[in-house]
Amino acid sequence: MKVAIPAEAEKTETRVAATPETVKKISALGAEIVVEAGAGAAAGIPDAEYQAAGAKIGRGGETTADADVVLKVRRPTASEAESYKKGALVIGIMDPFGNEAALAELAKAGVVAFAMELLPRITRAQVMDVLSSQANLAGYRAVIDAAYEYGRALPMMMTAAGTVPGAKVFVMGAGVAGLQAIATARRLGAIVTATDVRPAAKEQVESLGAKFIAVENEEFRQAETAAGYAKEMSKDYQAKQAALVAEHIKKQDIVITTALIPGRPAPRLISAEMARSMRPGSVIVDLAVERGGNCELAKPGEVVTADGVKIVGHLNVPGRLPATSSSLYAKNLYAFLEILVDKSNKSLAVKWDDEIVKATALTRDGAVVHPSFQPRTAA
Ligand code: NAD
Repeated sequence: MKVAIPAEAEKTETRVAATPETVKKISALGAEIVVEAGAGAAAGIPDAEYQAAGAKIGRGGETTADADVVLKVRRPTASEAESYKKGALVIGIMDPFGNEAALAELAKAGVVAFAMELLPRITRAQVMDVLSSQANLAGYRAVIDAAYEYGRALPMMMTAAGTVPGAKVFVMGAGVAGLQAIATARRLGAIVTATDVRPAAKEQVESLGAKFIAVENEEFRQAETAAGYAKEMSKDYQAKQAALVAEHIKKQDIVITTALIPGRPAPRLISAEMARSMRPGSVIVDLAVERGGNCELAKPGEVVTADGVKIVGHLNVPGRLPATSSSLYAKNLYAFLEILVDKSNKSLAVKWDDEIVKATALTRDGAVVHPSFQPRTAA
């Protein structure tokens, strides 16, 4: 069994899909491992550390040429996938929603692609949950980025020269990223409020010492899917929520938005007018910017200023902590790989009817096999 870790083709990607720690663990599964030269450089992992952990260092395409498993951060390009062996298992964040053409190319390349973001949220899969490991770090980093852009201190300080008031931080969306943002902002001494459309979030927000702000009507009480995700809310609810939020935002110093609905564009929560209503020097960090943005003024990859309010739209926020995000991501991938291996004879043995395998397998035998991503003509 040969496992390859290529360098990421996307130049802005700082993360890497294996660390020396997981290389050792993958070796123990009976695999030979090749890491492309420089693959860990942006995450602070030199080639020599991979070698010391038992990996060979490969150059360019030779890294993946005869690999049975390719561990990736992002979906490979069509030409990358074509250079892999037919039938190779390719495991990564495949960003499948709205990218049917790219999935068809993976199928055509003959690889078996697994999308880590489609893992079912069951207890057995928690250790593999890349959405949680990366969102948690994005939530943390969003507060650090906000603090960096904010021209004032976050904690209340009583000094001989006068009292500095505590910053008011409002977190919109209290899932994995939002809860970590709340905890981080609290640790920095901010006064934190938060909102979400899922009723279960209220208790979690309060348990972190933040105040929960939401329109708590009947629709709100029903607003969670069986999988624990948010539903798209009715126009009426959205209008009521927007009115409540508009009043609240005016008084905030920092707003961090994290609201997502799986497979859909991010809900628009902050209009341009609401953003401009904040006082100059305030900061909005939009973690949903890659999915269309929660804030109307957010621009992907930019920090824009509108009437003195900074709107931060960094891309790949987990990648802004490349060493930590790679270390957790690599462990997620290792845990997933482990279930694809028969440890008694140290070889790949994919159980196609396993709940985790079925939920994540996108392509196999030249076709897109996942029911949610069938080509339109076949529907
Ligand atoms: P997510 O990234 O899909 O969305 C982020 C948050 O935005 C969610 O809390 C969602 O409710 C919220 N949101 C959506 N629309 C909104 C709106 N209009 N206004 C305000 N907020 C809005 O979600 P996530 O962070 O991946 O987590 C969703 C849930 O799944 C959480 O309860 C989390 O604890 C749970 N979870 C379970 C497991 C498991 O293995 N059992 C693992 C991870 C997360």
